[in-house]
Amino acid sequence: MDYKKIILKPKKDESLRRFHPWVFSGAVQRKDANLEEGAIVTVHTSDGEFIAVGHYQIGSIEVRVLSFEETIIDGAFWEKRLTAAYEMRKAIGLIRPDNNTYRLVHGEGDNLPGLIIDIYGDTAVMQSHSVGMHESREAICEALKTVMGESLRNIYYKSETTLPYKAELGAENGYLYGGREVDNIVTENGLKFHGDWLKGQKTGFFVDQRDNRSLLEKYSDGRTVLNMFCYTGGFSFYAMRGGAKSVHSVDSSSKAIVMAEENVKLNFAEDPRHKAFAEDAFKFLRDMEHGQYDLIVLDPPAFAKHRGAIKNALQGYKRLNAVAFEKIAKGGILFTFSCSQAITKDMFRLAVFSAAAQSGRSVRILHQLTQPADHPVNIYHPEGEYLKGLVLYVE
Ligand code: SAH
Repeated sequence: MDYKKIILKPKKDESLRRFHPWVFSGAVQRKDANLEEGAIVTVHTSDGEFIAVGHYQIGSIEVRVLSFEETIIDGAFWEKRLTAAYEMRKAIGLIRPDNNTYRLVHGEGDNLPGLIIDIYGDTAVMQSHSVGMHESREAICEALKTVMGESLRNIYYKSETTLPYKAELGAENGYLYGGREVDNIVTENGLKFHGDWLKGQKTGFFVDQRDNRSLLEKYSDGRTVLNMFCYTGGFSFYAMRGGAKSVHSVDSSSKAIVMAEENVKLNFAEDPRHKAFAEDAFKFLRDMEHGQYDLIVLDPPAFAKHRGAIKNALQGYKRLNAVAFEKIAKGGILFTFSCSQAITKDMFRLAVFSAAAQSGRSVRILHQLTQPADHPVNIYHPEGEYLKGLVLYVE
């Protein structure tokens, strides 16, 4: 293996020995000259012993580890990793005609740091979060075609906004494969929606809320539901199938509201139970009446995108949840989430606790929620856990 080398300072190999997949810049003693961001490098202890191979990047994380074995990163390597990811999703029964939307690759959780692949029917949407993955995109695309065979007809690459800004790669979104006859009506637990990878946020749909939506469905019968931060209406169409009396979907993005309405129509035609509003969450919550809803979902965007924003984010979560506690009907159920990776489960719970205390109401925790199995957390990389939710019974 004649990859360029990174040599660690003495004793700085400990976290790598425990398979943590990042090399921080502070651990690096020296590195070969002319290293370019995105290059494949081998990492060695101060004695020169091989310890890992990965992608080099510029910043506080210098290497994201692809393997702890001495291996060449070639087509066979990508195939091996993608096969492992695919087999796991098959083994847990996630891939079915009534559920053809799922996450195939969840970065570090699938030993592929910096890579996300979501599957929407016969289309894969691939997203790079590192220069290394961007430069490997063609090889990954070829491997993906081999691994998924006939079941895959299109691969859409969507990394314009996810690559490090300073890398200036000029990455453009577009099909790497197929793209002519794309059917974007896909399924999740028997419900249909438009997989909107061209215009939608992220890869087009929030695949990570699937299990939590199913839980909401079970609590929806006869309830008046408010789906706040609804995006394309995921929680709304589950609530409707669950027998909700009415469902109001709210998002500040009018594009999202149009998509939510279309997705509800796909499943329920013109159903008068559903109404959608393009409005700011705080304004809507302030204006709504006390007791108007007895099932509320709060699934805001990440309030803390980095550690420096934690304090303000916690205040934001508190403020948001406080209005819900104040206004939800007696016997109401609140589904409240945070998808900020920088906010821990305990911090979030404390923010929700403070909001509850402010309202003075009796609040019990029914469920503590997280991300689903196709967003696995590598046990050696606890940072991969990001989605947190609480289901609360409010009297
Ligand atoms: N619950 C959704 C995902 C929510 S993503 C699902 O299951 O698919 C967060 C959403 O919050 C985005 O659609 C974004 O447009 C919306 N949003 C951001 N700021 C907002 C605000 N101040 N008021 C209302 N919606 C907002």
